[in-house]
Amino acid sequence: MRMIFMGPPGAGKGTQAKLVADKYGIPAISTGDIFRANVSQGTELGRKAQQFMDAGEYVPDEVTNLMVRNRIDEDDAQPGFLLDGYPRTLAQVEELDGMIRNTGHELDAVVVLTVDAEELVQRLLQRAETDGRSDDTEDVVRRRQEVYTEQTEPLIGVYRDRGLLVEVDGMGPVEEVNARIFGALQDVRES
Ligand code: ADP
Repeated sequence: MRMIFMGPPGAGKGTQAKLVADKYGIPAISTGDIFRANVSQGTELGRKAQQFMDAGEYVPDEVTNLMVRNRIDEDDAQPGFLLDGYPRTLAQVEELDGMIRNTGHELDAVVVLTVDAEELVQRLLQRAETDGRSDDTEDVVRRRQEVYTEQTEPLIGVYRDRGLLVEVDGMGPVEEVNARIFGALQDVRES
């Protein structure tokens, strides 16, 4: 399985991505997590990414693309992978197409989690209290939502046109959302 998880900040992508990847025995590759790990380890990649992340902006495509390319070249990603938070721009879509084509495989599904705007804000404010992520302040959250709407939402149409889109209601408890995702992916595998 080669899958993408999409959704606005706060939609619960990370939580669901891990559960689904575990079930399919493939790695969940979160660009946000990789950037944050690099920031906390003080690597060069982390230094390049941090200013953008803290402002709620996307890290430049060339930095992100190279990082993903290297990650999916690793052994554990050969049977498949689940990308959480990539692609987020049309340029990244093209780049990923090339990466997957090179492996001789195809993308199987793009899962989009939909959640009410009000619920998104509530979840992010709560996460700000529990996790202390430096980009969960109110101004930065608002900017991340704008950037998502401008740059990432258009990708939904692209994948819908390709017949890959799996839209899932992301409202409600984690287990319920998870059951909906598995149900929807089961239909994909059977079709
Ligand atoms: P969110 O919870 O907002 O979806 P993530 O944890 O996935 O955030 O990512 C945090 C930050 O990492 C983003 O705001 C952005 O700066 C950077 N980032 C993650 N993925 C990408 C990407 N595909 N392209 C550019 N920047 C990215």
